[in-house]
Amino acid sequence: MIKDKVVIITGASSGIGEATAKLLASESAKVVLGARREDQLRQLVDEIQSAGGQAAYQVMDVVNPSDNTAIVKLAQETFGGVDVIFLNAGIMPNSPLSALKTDEWHRTVDINIKGVLNGIAAVLPTFINQKSGHVIATSSVAGLKAYPGGAVYGGTKWFVRDFMEVLRMESALEGTNIRTATLYPAAINTELLGQITNQDVAEQMTALYQQYGISPDRVAKVVAFAIDQPEDTNVTEFTIGPTPQP
Ligand code: NDP
Repeated sequence: MIKDKVVIITGASSGIGEATAKLLASESAKVVLGARREDQLRQLVDEIQSAGGQAAYQVMDVVNPSDNTAIVKLAQETFGGVDVIFLNAGIMPNSPLSALKTDEWHRTVDINIKGVLNGIAAVLPTFINQKSGHVIATSSVAGLKAYPGGAVYGGTKWFVRDFMEVLRMESALEGTNIRTATLYPAAINTELLGQITNQDVAEQMTALYQQYGISPDRVAKVVAFAIDQPEDTNVTEFTIGPTPQP
């Protein structure tokens, strides 16, 4: 059941996170939205509330542990708890290793890996305490298959895959009944390519997305499906992308 679930979404100011926030709110979830850009978050919350939905936002950088704690606290104070956390914030500044864009490597690791760790650290005590909870995380097809230009990004998404599997296993062993779902999207039309500073990679990926890219609404439906399952049912993984994408 989605109705009345309190769902925290990181990376909610655009793309997959924004689409998921709108869909879940339209199905009567209470969504708590996090990202760095306040204007986008405020506009989204206004839009959801104008449509009769329930939403709140927290300006946050997932790299900061205290921002992650703050969004969990906001969910508890505003809506009385947390049922689901969707760890979705991420960047993809792809480039060949030989370009030595080391600042981008480190930033990608900080956001895509440490951001996930910070989110889990903030919410896990609550989920353990209530012996339930649902963690959904956005990996990528880059977490399943390596490709040139995606060494660091792909590495961070492999991490998400492994991390989520261990979380599920440990939770089962410890009897905390935390559900987990990992998403592996392919080309989804969002703002993600805007992070790429390498000209060649930007052109290649733009061409790929122009040919194949599909709406983030499609990923939102998959997230909603995972949440909608009965508590005793775990939808563990989804690969989702354009039908003809190789
Ligand atoms: P967008 O760029 O549209 O969305 C990324 C979101 O992450 C934004 O809301 C952005 O908000 C947020 N974000 C980035 N850095 C931070 C940070 N430090 N702290 C908090 N929020 C942050 O792209 P997508 O919707 O496509 O990306 C969502 C996820 O999907 C990412 O993890 C991405 O890797 C993954 N993905 C996307 C694919 C695609 O083809 N689009 C394919 C596979 C995976 P703000 O800038 O306001 O902070």
